[in-house]
Amino acid sequence: MQTVIIAGGKGERLGLIDIPKPMVKLQNKPLLEYQIELAKKYGSKEIFIMSGYMSDVIKDYFKDGKNFNIKINHITEIFPLGTAGCLKQLENTINKRFMVFYGDIVMDFDIHSFIEFDKNQKESIATIIIHPNNHPYDSDLIETDKNNKITKIIKKPHNDNNYYKNLVNAGVYIFSPEIFKFIKENEYQDIARDILPKIIDKNIYGYKTAEYIKDLGTKERFNKIKTDFKKGNINKFNKTNKRSAIFLDRDGVINKNMDTSPSLDNFQLLEKVEDAIKKINESGFLAIVITNQPMIAKGFITFEETEKIHNKLETLLGEKEAYLDEIYFCPHHPKNGFKGEIKELKIDCNCRKPKTGLFMKAKEDFNIDFNTSWMIGDSKCDIEAGKNIGAKTILISDKNEYDADFSAKNLNEAINLILNEGQIK
Ligand SMILES: [Zn+2]
Repeated sequence: MQTVIIAGGKGERLGLIDIPKPMVKLQNKPLLEYQIELAKKYGSKEIFIMSGYMSDVIKDYFKDGKNFNIKINHITEIFPLGTAGCLKQLENTINKRFMVFYGDIVMDFDIHSFIEFDKNQKESIATIIIHPNNHPYDSDLIETDKNNKITKIIKKPHNDNNYYKNLVNAGVYIFSPEIFKFIKENEYQDIARDILPKIIDKNIYGYKTAEYIKDLGTKERFNKIKTDFKKGNINKFNKTNKRSAIFLDRDGVINKNMDTSPSLDNFQLLEKVEDAIKKINESGFLAIVITNQPMIAKGFITFEETEKIHNKLETLLGEKEAYLDEIYFCPHHPKNGFKGEIKELKIDCNCRKPKTGLFMKAKEDFNIDFNTSWMIGDSKCDIEAGKNIGAKTILISDKNEYDADFSAKNLNEAINLILNEGQIK
């Protein structure tokens, strides 16, 4: 697949004076070179570098690509065209689906899996990589339906007091050549701000991943990226490598138990949960909620209300720079006889803990190694589920029972215990 790298960034916030942002060095190589190597590793044979600001620095370094064993074409804009405006210059050159990176992003992800996902979406104009981040409150947010189709883009600032799922555009795309029709010639336009809203009713899909894809942004973020680079975290999170997860039960672990009256208003986080989850995010473990919600089968709460509660959870965490990699829930209940119950959800499913259906789904989605993972819960079924997958278990309780490996008074204490164990692989 042909790859286009948009490399017009200035890097003022990083204090760069004599080089454009994509040429900033990580260890001894410019960021752009890592991107080219990544594209090459996954079979890209031709790269288009779209430059503007200080384009000579880029051209002098990469030339025609011979020294890098790949064909490189340089396209330079005469005046700033933005991330979309510059693409328009390729309209007569590219006639197949193509991939686009922003040149200021540090990343390592399984491009094969991304391309495979894109192939499976029929008649789509674009596929975008999406993920949660630790500053959703000042990011444009993405809403998807259950088929991963993007249904809405919520631009920042979102001062409407609504709760949103923490999903943002990671700045990596696959486009159909049809996209060129929606971009005007010789006019400054941005992909995310100007083009995506125009094509939202075509088919745009979101490919969600927990792999490492972060923009350089500020000096502070760049320093964090350098630390991650030293630790080897950038490559380690590629989906072809196994990850360790901390699985979390919801009620009684993250939020106060709502007993028989689950509702958006009754949903309240327990103390220091944001801190605890932020620690998980920074440790390199995945943070994944797996929860039984039989109240849905019993007719006490709907799917829509449950989703709103989860949006509230993600928004509250996001305000404190913490995020969940995924939330999986079982809506079923095996016993019937409740007034107002939903018949079709009254089944003996394979996803209600202590059964392992949702864990197996998570394993498939994130390539998880259960043996280096943990389950934290407050009930017998959580501990049994953890044991069923071969993870270590922590019971949130004043006493240690159900044969859990450890017990802790709250989530924060449990996370400290895990991180002191030094189990991360
Ligand atoms: Zn179930």
